[in-house]
Amino acid sequence: MKSFQENDIKLSNPVKDFMTREPYTARIQDSIKEAIDLMVSNKIGSIVVTNNNKEPVNILTKTDVLKLIFFNYTDVSIDDALRILKKKNSRIFTINENDLITDCIEIFVSKGIKHLPVVNAENKVVGIISATDIIQKISYLIFIDGLTGFGNRHYFESLKVKFDKFRGKITIGILMLDIDNFKKVNDTYGHTFGDKVLKKVAETIINNVRFVDETVRYGGEEFLVMLFKAHREVVLRVAERIRQAVERIKFEEYPELKITISIGATLCLPSSDTGECVKRADLALKKAKKEGKNRVFFLSPDDES
Ligand code: GH3
Ligand code: MG
Ligand code: MG
Repeated sequence: MKSFQENDIKLSNPVKDFMTREPYTARIQDSIKEAIDLMVSNKIGSIVVTNNNKEPVNILTKTDVLKLIFFNYTDVSIDDALRILKKKNSRIFTINENDLITDCIEIFVSKGIKHLPVVNAENKVVGIISATDIIQKISYLIFIDGLTGFGNRHYFESLKVKFDKFRGKITIGILMLDIDNFKKVNDTYGHTFGDKVLKKVAETIINNVRFVDETVRYGGEEFLVMLFKAHREVVLRVAERIRQAVERIKFEEYPELKITISIGATLCLPSSDTGECVKRADLALKKAKKEGKNRVFFLSPDDES
């Protein structure tokens, strides 16, 4: 997984950042046939029904249209169709374009609906938002650490399942990396600068692995790298390359500052459990720290812990 930082969608964004603008609308007095044609030819899931003031009064969904076609009610007005569908008096839920996306999710969940017309301050329809729009745009938020753009622990859990599918076939290299004396960096230069260091270290890690490899922010200043199809030399070479690259990082604000990283490395053989291998990488990291930090410590799969 590569960095997602360029994707700036947040849960605190307003509905207008997620909605489909200029939605298909039909007026209540239009014929249902026109509405069906509009839906079929544009492959859309719903149409907002408005009055003559462009205010939303109802919503027509694919399911509604299928029912009307099935019972052969295709020659009536939308108004009549809504009566036939027993939706004439149903209350239409709308959401304001400036409401938060979290408000929208709450309505979807509490009312059990999947589409909402979006209105402006004058109650005119300006868009439509569907549960699918939201899922598509925010799904990465569940799995990505906002600071570094690395996968988070949820991502790591799904990764374990994914890698377990390859178990029995390939060997994976695992690196557990931890910034040395990071508490001191925070204490000396402040937490905001500490965040900058974390970002820079993450960037350095990603620049030194291949696209197929996986990077996870495993803890506060601890990262995990999974090297797809690796052997001892590859694991050691990549780990050492990352260690040296981190050592070379320079910060304009503090030219005297040197950041170092300790790395625990191991191999996960086809016959072993991914979780067990991660534990061994963690143990190797502890040994790297104990031996003086700023180094790589390799624990072979057959080493006794
Ligand atoms: P060691 O060399 O043994 O790893 O020592 P250390 O100081 O790096 O380790 P320790 O576990 O004592 O401290 C880790 C620090 O990382 C403490 C915590 O405040 C900081 N930290 C964790 N997450 C973040 C973060 O997101 N931003 C910043 N700025 N600091 C963080
Ligand atoms: Mg540390
Ligand atoms: Mg740590």
